[in-house]
Amino acid sequence: MSTIDGLPPLREVIRVHDLVAKKQLGQNFLLDLNLTAKIARMAGDLSGCDVIEVGPGPGGLTRGLLAEGARRVLAIEKDPRCLPALEEISAAYPGRLEVINADALTIDPTDRLTAPIRIVANLPYNVGTELLVRWLTPQAWPPFWDSLTLMFQKEVAERIVAKPGSKAYGRLALLAQWRTDARIVLTLPPEAFTPPPKIHSSVVHLKRLDAPRYPADAAILSRLTAAGFNQRRKMLRSSLKGVAPDIEDRLRAAGIEPTARAEEISLEGFCALAREIAANGS
Ligand code: SAM
Repeated sequence: MSTIDGLPPLREVIRVHDLVAKKQLGQNFLLDLNLTAKIARMAGDLSGCDVIEVGPGPGGLTRGLLAEGARRVLAIEKDPRCLPALEEISAAYPGRLEVINADALTIDPTDRLTAPIRIVANLPYNVGTELLVRWLTPQAWPPFWDSLTLMFQKEVAERIVAKPGSKAYGRLALLAQWRTDARIVLTLPPEAFTPPPKIHSSVVHLKRLDAPRYPADAAILSRLTAAGFNQRRKMLRSSLKGVAPDIEDRLRAAGIEPTARAEEISLEGFCALAREIAANGS
C-alpha cells in the first residue's frame, strides 16, 4: 500500500517495532495518515515554521507535519521504544526532524528552534492540561510560540472554549481566552485511535494574541479565578473574601453584583475586577 510519503503504513511500523500501546503513557495512536495530514493543516501554513510535537509515538502526526511542509519538527517522546520508528522518518526527511527522548514536562526545547514556532500535538491525556497551562503562563507575553494545535479529551477541549453560564466554564477557559483565540476545529470518535479510548477527542487551535484581550495583572487574575471557581456555587462576596478585605466595594466598582457567582462573570468582568484590586491594593 502506498502512503503520502512512501514510508510504510503505520500499522506495519507498529508491528515491525512491536509498539504495543501502553496505557500509562496515554498511547492512543492515530494510524490514518490522511487524518494526521488534516490535523497538521489545522495548524495553518507550516512552511517557514518550526514545530514542536509532544509525544510523536510511531510518528503518524509527525509524518503529517513534515508532508505538509513544516520547516523543522522537534519531537519530544518519552517512550524509547518509539525511537527506531522515528529515526526512519528522520532519514526520509533529512535535516528536518529532530527527536528528543525525554519527558516533555522536564525539558525546555525553545533554544533549539527559530521563530515562528508552532506547537502541534496529539497529547498524552495525563499531561495535556498541565502542558497547556504552562504554555499559557510564560514569564512574559507574547510567548515563544505563535499557535497551539492540540488534541485533548473532548471534555477538556470544551472547558478551554467554554463561555460564561455553562458548566464547562472555569479557570481554563479564562486562562486560554484571555490571551488567545481558542476554537475547537475537529472532533474525533474513539474509533479514530488505536487502541480506542473511552471518550471522544477534540483538536483545539489556540492562536496567541499579541497583547491580552483586556488589561489585567496575571497573578491577581489567577488568584481571583482560583478563589472564585474553587467555590463556584458560592456568591463572589463570600468566595473572594480572602482576596481583598473590601471585596464587595471592589466588585461593585468593577460593575459586578456581589451576589453573583463566578460562573456568571465574563472574562471582561474578571479583568475589570483584577484592575480594581490592583488599583486599590489587596
Ligand atoms: N502522536 C502520536 C499519534 O498521534 O498517533 C501518539 C499520540 S499518543 C496520544 C501520546 C504520546 O505521548 C505517546 O507516544 C506517549 O509515549 C507520549 N508521551 C506520554 N507522556 C509523555 C511525556 N511526559 N513526554 C513526552 N511524551 C510523552
